[in-house]
Amino acid sequence: MTVFETLESEVRSYCRSWPVVFDKAVGSWLYDEKQKPYLDFFAGAGALNYGHNNPLLKQPLIDYLSSDRVVHSLDMSTAAKGAFLETFAELVLNPRELDYKVQFPGPTGTNSVESALKLARKITGRESVVNFTNAFHGMTLGALSVSGDSMKRGGAGIPLVHATPMPYDNYFDRQYPDFLYFERLLEDGGSGLNKPAAVIVETVQGEGGINVARFEWLKGLAELCRKHEILLIVDDVQMGCGRTGPFFSFEPAGITPDIVCLSKSIGGYGLPMALTLLRPHLDVWNPGEHNGTFRGNNPAFVTAKAALDNYWADDALEKGVLAKGEQIGRALQEITEVVPGTTAKGRGLARGLSFADSKRAGAVARAAFHRGLLVETSGPDNEVVKLMPPLTIREEDLAHGLQLFADAVRA
Ligand SMILES: *Cc1c(COP(=O)(O)O)cnc(C)c1O
Repeated sequence: MTVFETLESEVRSYCRSWPVVFDKAVGSWLYDEKQKPYLDFFAGAGALNYGHNNPLLKQPLIDYLSSDRVVHSLDMSTAAKGAFLETFAELVLNPRELDYKVQFPGPTGTNSVESALKLARKITGRESVVNFTNAFHGMTLGALSVSGDSMKRGGAGIPLVHATPMPYDNYFDRQYPDFLYFERLLEDGGSGLNKPAAVIVETVQGEGGINVARFEWLKGLAELCRKHEILLIVDDVQMGCGRTGPFFSFEPAGITPDIVCLSKSIGGYGLPMALTLLRPHLDVWNPGEHNGTFRGNNPAFVTAKAALDNYWADDALEKGVLAKGEQIGRALQEITEVVPGTTAKGRGLARGLSFADSKRAGAVARAAFHRGLLVETSGPDNEVVKLMPPLTIREEDLAHGLQLFADAVRA
């Protein structure tokens, strides 16, 4: 028995799928204690968009630490935070003509979601929030109340209230017009739906099984929210920071959410960091009303700035993500043509292969692991094998990984 089995809680999960002890990590590769390499098509569930220990981010981090700069600072003003904010405005917000204030919640995705929900309720004076089937927004109680997974919801141990799920795009296989049910409930005074403070949505549901919302569906949702004066929150924790190509996943849909949640890859290096972006007139917080000890994680501000400087000053990364995404899409399409019961899903570098028989998906992920490829499963029955390599993956590694994946499916 290892110390993980004797001492670490039963709650541990990923280590059960990949029962080795990882030690080193470079770019798209992880190495276990015996130096066996694993190609990483998991990328920290989207927290490692720029790969492991990216040298372009590592050097500024080392320089920062070795010159005794401030590491922990709550929300005091620091040089590192100021430099990040200036770069974020210059390279992300201004070129996209996005007018947002930046809130630093605690450094996790669920903390950004909690702050968004609290703020929407404070602004509107309403309690209920509309979420979507198969959504995932985090594990704290507010975020869990707008998440779908019944096992995770059950962990709350108390009723999860003030949230109403609506069908996500394509939930009924396009048998009904978009928003037929939602719009009817909003307009019918007898529907029993309390007028919501906000709608929270992912443009692509990562944990929910790589479900892609069409741009016209997202546009329709934004329009519906505008018409009924409901705030629109886009949870871009997993799909933001270039995962689907553009910096924000909602850009190609031509919508501007009222509130945006970012975490996972915003810190760039896998260091904890989160942002909540608010349209300026929504910034009605009182000082300290949403607080947190680790909001000032300065090493993450340093690597976040370095990631923006190195990857978001031009559109090379975005173009690369779209091209690599299509390459994965083609490889998955080829598999679906020879393996019955499989469907290719995804957008950009958030891709998935869905299996009619969910046991197959688990078997493929295990077969991939034995071949040295890390892929996880997602979806309500874990029926989708998820392919999410770092955005910076080299051509030869991508081709190699797709070959290993095809071998795993065949096996
Ligand atoms: C991972 C994730 C979260 C939660 O982030 P944590 O850092 O794990 O709290 C929230 N929303 C989405 C869409 C996510 O993928």
